[in-house]
Amino acid sequence: MSDFTTEILRDYDRRFVWHPFTQMRDWEAEEQIVITRGEGAWLIDSDGKRYLDGVAAIWTNVHGHCRREINDAIKVQVDRLEHSTLLGLASEQPAILAKRLIDIAPEGLSRVFYSDNGSTAMEIAIKMAFQYWIHKGKPEKNRFISFRNAYHGDTIGAVSVGGIDLFHEVFRPLLFPTIQAPSPYCYRCELSTERCSDRCDRQCLAKLEEILQLHAHEAAAVVIEPLLQGAGGMIVQPQGFLRRVRELCDQHGVLLIADEVAVGFGRTGTMFASQQEGVTPDIMALSKGITAGYLPLAATVTTEEVYAAFLGEYRELKTFFHGHTFTGNPIACAAAIASLDLFDSDSLLESLALKIEYLRERAQAMLQLPHVGDVRHCGMVAGIELVRDKDSREPYHWEERVGVNVCMEARKHGLFLRPLGNVIVVFPPLASSLDELRFLMDGIEKSIVAVTA
Ligand SMILES: *Cc1c(COP(=O)(O)O)cnc(C)c1O
Repeated sequence: MSDFTTEILRDYDRRFVWHPFTQMRDWEAEEQIVITRGEGAWLIDSDGKRYLDGVAAIWTNVHGHCRREINDAIKVQVDRLEHSTLLGLASEQPAILAKRLIDIAPEGLSRVFYSDNGSTAMEIAIKMAFQYWIHKGKPEKNRFISFRNAYHGDTIGAVSVGGIDLFHEVFRPLLFPTIQAPSPYCYRCELSTERCSDRCDRQCLAKLEEILQLHAHEAAAVVIEPLLQGAGGMIVQPQGFLRRVRELCDQHGVLLIADEVAVGFGRTGTMFASQQEGVTPDIMALSKGITAGYLPLAATVTTEEVYAAFLGEYRELKTFFHGHTFTGNPIACAAAIASLDLFDSDSLLESLALKIEYLRERAQAMLQLPHVGDVRHCGMVAGIELVRDKDSREPYHWEERVGVNVCMEARKHGLFLRPLGNVIVVFPPLASSLDELRFLMDGIEKSIVAVTA
């Protein structure tokens, strides 16, 4: 056990750690929970109190915390090799993992480029698409089409293709300009005054088509989070949206970059979200779930067509000049392989159907509550959007921090949650049991009722 008491740990954290996406003045003023252990779907703090991990360690956890099989795989690998490099050397674990990833990836993807987080996986996707068109003799195809409310990471290139003003506006002068298509945010559609309904004629797709007609000649790629925009507020796309985006990209000769950083590895019910619509992207970015939440690792996966465009004589300088120090780290790759083994031995994807149905029912039932305006659900994710007024869909003012207040209330019910503005996020470890999901949804419901009363 640690010699550091909760008080000492809180003190060190308050004095020395700068937390991400956090107003540190508020942070310093509050008493913080210090997590020291994890067990299955649960996080345990320095005083032994347990919290159900409702955000799956920021959307990464798959098989639960401290799963023995992954712990063991990491221990074995540590005693063999901690790291070498993929710059000039092949390496055992990255080679095995690449084969395993291609086996399960959407049909037609065949090459794996490693890095170590979701933002770098997207930077790589962007640079790869950009350079691809140079090698194809069309250097003018150098712009990117992205969606409003998109989130692709926090590095400068990834922020450039992002579309969340609250996070991104301050950095605008540093960003490269993109062509923005409307977000398929049915509850707050920017194109139609018609309330989201089955009669919707998908003006967002018509708008994208118009953009492609105008800009395809200068566009390298369309960048999308397949099936759902995560950090934008768990915005679930209408069925067929992704498939249509793929068709439009094909018609207009533009690459499709699928950011599966949040939705990859089972989150939406299939191994990859693109597979639900029978779509193969030209480039696919993977990270969060890849090591089941254990270690930083990412992969940018592409087709033979894109890969082959970079082949040539050395002096032609067709090389992809990009690489990170910890690219393809063997311990991280060993964890990823162990995670894929568990998908098989636990029949994890097969086991999800019941739990997905339960989450859907419970989330849908919350629409009865007076301040729940919209409920969005996709696989093992749900977003519950709170509004001041249901009829007018008037949101709570962001300064009221209603989402934060609900999540703080939820701690009393043994839950750890993190909201996205007024959207309560439901993103538990995939391996959570039905009982744990019941505990989670009961606590969320009580917390929403208490805070919005
Ligand atoms: C989290 C996320 C990223 C960025 O990943 P990091 O590892 O935080 O850099 C990119 N895209 C999506 C869809 C994400 O959810």
